[in-house]
Amino acid sequence: MSDRLKTVERQNSVLHKLNEIAAISDISPIETLRKALEIGKEYFGLEFGIVSHIVGEEYRVDVQSSPPQTLFDGQLFELGSTYCKTTLETDSVLAITDVTTSKYRGHPCHRDFNLVSYIGAPIRVNSKIYGTINFSSAQARHLEYDKIDDEFMKLLARWAGSFLERQSVLDELSLAKQQFEMIFENNASGILLIDSSCQILMVNKRFCEIIGFSKSELVGENAIIYYLDDLSYQTAREKILNTDKNSYLHMEHQLKRKDGKLIWCEFIGSQIELTKQKSAMIWSILDVTLQKEMQEKLEKQATTDYLTELFNRRYFTGRLEEEISKIKRDEHHEISLIMFDLDRFKDINDTFGHLIGDIVLKKFADILKLNSRKADIIGRIGGEEFAMILPDTNIDNAVVLANRILQETFETKIEIENGSVGFTVSIGVTALSADDINYDTPIVRVDKALYAAKTSGRNKIEVNV
Ligand code: GH3
Ligand code: MG
Ligand code: MG
Repeated sequence: MSDRLKTVERQNSVLHKLNEIAAISDISPIETLRKALEIGKEYFGLEFGIVSHIVGEEYRVDVQSSPPQTLFDGQLFELGSTYCKTTLETDSVLAITDVTTSKYRGHPCHRDFNLVSYIGAPIRVNSKIYGTINFSSAQARHLEYDKIDDEFMKLLARWAGSFLERQSVLDELSLAKQQFEMIFENNASGILLIDSSCQILMVNKRFCEIIGFSKSELVGENAIIYYLDDLSYQTAREKILNTDKNSYLHMEHQLKRKDGKLIWCEFIGSQIELTKQKSAMIWSILDVTLQKEMQEKLEKQATTDYLTELFNRRYFTGRLEEEISKIKRDEHHEISLIMFDLDRFKDINDTFGHLIGDIVLKKFADILKLNSRKADIIGRIGGEEFAMILPDTNIDNAVVLANRILQETFETKIEIENGSVGFTVSIGVTALSADDINYDTPIVRVDKALYAAKTSGRNKIEVNV
């Protein structure tokens, strides 16, 4: 075998080794490069091997393979004091067998570091100069470098360049992944990714906190896991299916936590394409239970009388107006209206005090509540005036109910320190009519009946239709 053939074979086996070490995934990129430098050192018979990164006039040792206590990774030099400056200037392989007998005699690198033999080549990463790969020694090399060494050095530099290039892509990917995970995991909203069959693909930490299930309990499961029941799940699904792909979807749902507690969540979502065939919904979720409870409380406050917890006048007259509209739409509806006014209530206040007066008002409200059905609407529409709307109730049945209330009120006693307080009520009854203009019309009519009950002796019922 010719010497040249032998050398080429040796080079091939070295390159083969390099590719093998580059493919080992359990060693870090730095150690891979160090192994490559060891292989190069052995090939050239030199004691130092360096992959350098050069920025401006700064020469940084990225990785080195050298005798103990000589070089270290991260070490900085001035570019001007290195042979690599000359390598970059010639933009090719620089090979110095023995600097003392070469044209580079007196080079700062010889003067300052006593390096006598050197071979180095520029490394390009993404077509730009990154630095150099070089080998050197304090001793002159026995053999002159030849063209084959030159070619081999170029190959090594190209190998190192593509290795660093791939590494920078991997670094970017891993950084992007890290950033994505940081944003996803630490988002203040819950984030939920579900596919078109409602299977949960991803959830973040906040969503798990909101819903009380762990990540592993959710991922892979159907979204029904956190819905109250099948109906609310289906309603949500239909809304999603009927929404334009390109618009955002905004929904509010009541969900069931793992501990069974019901919570309100606001969902804002949009459709995304995971692959060409697979679409998914990405949801941003806020727990709005507290706001919802506050809103309900405020709504209740706005519609309820604080003392009796019956509807207040404003809400009651609004409902009365709605009932009138129902009759106007369909005259077959029979709706009655009863109005109550406690008799001589001023006297109760004057005799027993306001607090007892309040107890009487509450007691009377309880009588009304106990005598009502779910659909009935009861309001406190004045100080000691109450009214009741009775849907699907004709006047006769309304009078029956009014009589029962009249009787119960008469029989009710409130215990006080030295005895008890009794009270009575006067009642007017009317029926809503399609001719009623607004809520005021039936109120004026029922008021007349009530007035008649008052003037004819109180503790009575009068009807006016
Ligand atoms: P009538 O039989 O003619 O209805 O006589 P009345 O005394 O019941 O009627 P009047 O309208 O003269 O008096 C109503 C009283 O109700 C006067 C008012 O001080 C009292 N009142 C109104 N709101 C409240 C309340 O919230 N608590 C108490 N304790 N009294 C109230
Ligand atoms: Mg009154
Ligand atoms: Mg009164």
